[in-house]
Amino acid sequence: MNNIYNITREELEEFFINNNEKRFRAIQTFEWIYKKRIKSFEEIGNISKNTIEKLSNNFSFYTIKIIKIEKSKEVNKYLFELEDGNNIESVLMFHDYGISLCISTQVGCSMGCSFCESGRYGKTRNLYTYEMVQQILEIEKDIDKRITHVVLMGIGEPFDNYDNVMKFIRIINDPKGIEIGARHITLSTCGIIPKIKDFGNEGLQVNLAISLHAPNDELRNKLMPINKVYPIKELIESIKEYINKTNRRVTFEYVMIKGINDTKECALELSKLIKGINCYVNLIPYNDNNYDGYESSSDCEIMSFYDILKCEEINVTIRKKFGDTITAACGQLRSKNMEEL
Ligand code: SAH
Repeated sequence: MNNIYNITREELEEFFINNNEKRFRAIQTFEWIYKKRIKSFEEIGNISKNTIEKLSNNFSFYTIKIIKIEKSKEVNKYLFELEDGNNIESVLMFHDYGISLCISTQVGCSMGCSFCESGRYGKTRNLYTYEMVQQILEIEKDIDKRITHVVLMGIGEPFDNYDNVMKFIRIINDPKGIEIGARHITLSTCGIIPKIKDFGNEGLQVNLAISLHAPNDELRNKLMPINKVYPIKELIESIKEYINKTNRRVTFEYVMIKGINDTKECALELSKLIKGINCYVNLIPYNDNNYDGYESSSDCEIMSFYDILKCEEINVTIRKKFGDTITAACGQLRSKNMEEL
């Protein structure tokens, strides 16, 4: 049976029309699901018994389960168990501008970036749309507040699960659904060029972030194997095309790893590479995971790197360090849980 949270409003409308029901009933049903957060179709007040039966025969409300929560002042970390027993995690951050949730898109990841915990055990499978939607719904239930921002920066590569991720974005962005504004949604990718092109054609106002992490192929090949398939020059070209098409500013994420990609030469090379592009650089202090031998650049090294970019007139910010006390960097809670088993 299909899960109801896999279904976009358009698909639900189609289902209603194919079953000789009115389109507006589908819209109402969608609102009952996402605005009133019903847990069975019987709770719907204004549709016929017959329709309720049809819905119940076709769609389930199965929910993924929170099995562990680590809470601190600014960050909550959730470990979920999926229907098939796999685990994923989400990280909730309380900012002054709102509450943002970092969600997972896959069980594991096959991109194999050398500094990233999520790829350590490879990829088990893609998440279904409902498993992404429910990370939001279950956590909103836990905190009894609305999540205002969603970032697709948890476990997995969103563009390696393209179709399910696009459906997820449409459901949470839908004014009749969870209604998170497109500009409050950020998708982060390691740089799968054909999907960057597709994404540019979706007509969405969602923010795009690119995990760059190195200014040249030699270094990026070492940190991110995907670069051997989609090298930097072509990646930058595809981003320029994306910006031309969408008129949206992109973010380059750059993890600061001591002695590896944080030198003055790297900063200058990076500035040259992206000069003139409508973008900003987000410097991310490397979050130590104790297994890859890397260390974070010091605050002073990060500031020096920042200053060079500024001098070169590149827009740059430093990401606030969240969650390192509660194993909240990508994939770390899940790994910890696997080690404990
Ligand atoms: N696969 C996507 C999204 C998930 S990773 C991507 O590659 O963009 C989200 C971000 O966290 C990426 O920029 C990733 O490179 C970064 N990241 C991974 N491990 C990290 C670590 N140990 N410390 C800091 N950032 C890390």
